Amino acid sequence: MLTISDWKEKVEREGARDSIDELIERIKKSKLNAFITINEDCLRDVEKFDNGELKGKLAGIPVAVKDCITTEGLLTTCGSKILHDYIPPFDAHVVERLKAEGAIIVGKTNMDEFAMGTTTETSYYGVVRNPHDLERVAGGSSGGSGACIAAEESILSLGSDTGGSIRCPASFCGVVGLKPTYGLVSRYGLIPYANSLEQIGPFAASVDDLALLLEVIAGPDERDSTNARREFKYNPKERKNLRIGVIKEMGGNDYVMSSFEEVVEVIKKHHTVGEVSMPSFKYALAAYYIIAMSEASSNLARYDGVRYGLSDETLSSWNVFFSKVRAEGFGDEVKRRIMLGSYALSAGYYGKYYLKALKVRTLVVRDFKRALDDFDLLIAPTMPALPFKIGELADPLTMYKADVNTVPINLAGVPSLSLPIFERKGLPVGMQIIGNYFEENSILSFAKWLEKEIKAVS
Ligand code: GLN
Repeated sequence: MLTISDWKEKVEREGARDSIDELIERIKKSKLNAFITINEDCLRDVEKFDNGELKGKLAGIPVAVKDCITTEGLLTTCGSKILHDYIPPFDAHVVERLKAEGAIIVGKTNMDEFAMGTTTETSYYGVVRNPHDLERVAGGSSGGSGACIAAEESILSLGSDTGGSIRCPASFCGVVGLKPTYGLVSRYGLIPYANSLEQIGPFAASVDDLALLLEVIAGPDERDSTNARREFKYNPKERKNLRIGVIKEMGGNDYVMSSFEEVVEVIKKHHTVGEVSMPSFKYALAAYYIIAMSEASSNLARYDGVRYGLSDETLSSWNVFFSKVRAEGFGDEVKRRIMLGSYALSAGYYGKYYLKALKVRTLVVRDFKRALDDFDLLIAPTMPALPFKIGELADPLTMYKADVNTVPINLAGVPSLSLPIFERKGLPVGMQIIGNYFEENSILSFAKWLEKEIKAVS
């Protein structure tokens, strides 16, 4: 993997134009399918960089952007057929900030359709393969954004995380990924799946690189009413003897747990490790899927073929038109979620499903508050298994269950980083580091220390 400083050295040695050409060539030849669109226009930015016109924290650094984040003039499909020709007339807030800091946007990354999935197998544009084993998935839904870092097809990337979509591919591809606190990063220009749960966040090869990208994308924005209107400044501090809580309810299979236990031993040498129980987590997965699908069913009503989506001029009756456009434009998983979400919100069932799920959400928030009173940070395996074989999670419920360790974090809105720990069977394993609201700096400081310790013993 290439860090920002590796890239800068390369540019120094070989020049920006040749370095970017080589990177684009690698994407074109790649078997991973990490990109839906390559931004050929980025060569103009390279010229600007060479002329000294590109300035800022990320001047000349390649960044890949998940395809549910709008980019002015550049195809943005959200992994769906229904948006196969959508060229947004505006940049998302995070893209404005990347451009303002001189980043070179190399392309748009592949993802599950409307970010609904854990493996990218629901993408209309095909599955993203895992850089460590081509027969396995790269994780989802931001699979392309995780894989492109591991395969040196970009230096940094952005993803979105509604229930684990940054942390899962980070874990499966062996890179660092962060879901920020809800509200830290503006969602303006993020095509919504479930607004109350999701955040845009960074991927990188190292903790320091990830922190720099977070500094760039986090910040006040009036166009997102849930934005916390604050900046983020990275200031790593190595702290001794932290209280680290292992979440009892978040586990994994033997491979994952043996890797996790190995890293706990490393942590124990310098910090106090205890166990913490979060009883509400038993219901968190069910509550998450009810809330996410309910919000999705409402969000996706806009794809009616008039304002957005496919269209068919030959049909006259509105209902027939609407149904045909949506039947052709959406994949099976998206249709399933629209139906289940509409059902959960319907008059007779609202109290039984949606309202109950909101009550569980309150309990999950309470459990986190309690745990974070007793501990400085919490840790748990990111995914309960090693990267799945392509096609392994055949039925939807099995797929949903894979998110058991990631979704409670989104229900509460706290930040969580996935850090690569010890490999098993030649495949990466990830660990989550979870902190209190807006305590990204504590998470990153601890992750930076642990990254170094893991390297030392590997
Ligand atoms: N796998 C989860 C889902 O399908 C999370 C997806 C995401 O975070 N976008 O809902």
